[in-house]
Amino acid sequence: MTVQFPRDAVGAIVLDIEGTTTPIAFVHDALFPFARRHVREHLQEHRGGAEVREAIRRLREEWADDVARDAAPPPWSDEPDAGLLSVAAYVEWLMDRDRKSPGLKLLQGYIWEDGYRSGALTGEVFPDVVPALRRWRASEIVVAIYSSGSVLAQQLLFGHTPTGDLTPLVDRFFDTEVGGKTSPDSYRRIAAALHCQTDRLLFVSDASKELDAARQAGCEVLLCARPGNPTQSAPPGLRMIHGFDEIGVGE
Ligand SMILES: [Mg+2]
Repeated sequence: MTVQFPRDAVGAIVLDIEGTTTPIAFVHDALFPFARRHVREHLQEHRGGAEVREAIRRLREEWADDVARDAAPPPWSDEPDAGLLSVAAYVEWLMDRDRKSPGLKLLQGYIWEDGYRSGALTGEVFPDVVPALRRWRASEIVVAIYSSGSVLAQQLLFGHTPTGDLTPLVDRFFDTEVGGKTSPDSYRRIAAALHCQTDRLLFVSDASKELDAARQAGCEVLLCARPGNPTQSAPPGLRMIHGFDEIGVGE
């Protein structure tokens, strides 16, 4: 069933990635294991580079916080060779805990970048995504992505799909630098950045907590149910779609 909006009711469409544009399995079965498999090799190969050094600096700070909080992370050595091994051990420890660590995210982004550029990784989106992006683009609707993955990771995913580079079809990418996905203020900031009133911003996600936050900010929302998502029924007042071809804007 199509959810129909009048054309002038929608100024911008903001999309979540995991479970919305992209199968959850891609993130969990392809991206995360790829980063885990390549972390040691990546640290070794790029140890002298500014990017890896900055990621290590951040991880070292986070590690010190973990020690201070008695979280018992693996030991850290600042010796050059043992140091890389302890960075890798700490990164694996963070991954095991699915930590939303800025240092980890930074490093994962660089590892994925290598993977996408070499062709070892290909970004995955559901088949209805590209036609919808083109349709919205043709209607001059602003399209943005808002995901907890870093902007770099988002751009890499959309930049390396089997149908080519989709980034020209997306106007803006937002990550949690703009705020958390369950905070209404994040949606207000995104609307402001897109020069769109909140009530003309349509946010699409598979997570009802995110949709609640966007609704509190005054946005229009749609719950996206995709193959591979945990089964859920739409909470009262929340409309559900199964693909972007069910979003109708205009006549
Ligand atoms: Mg999601």
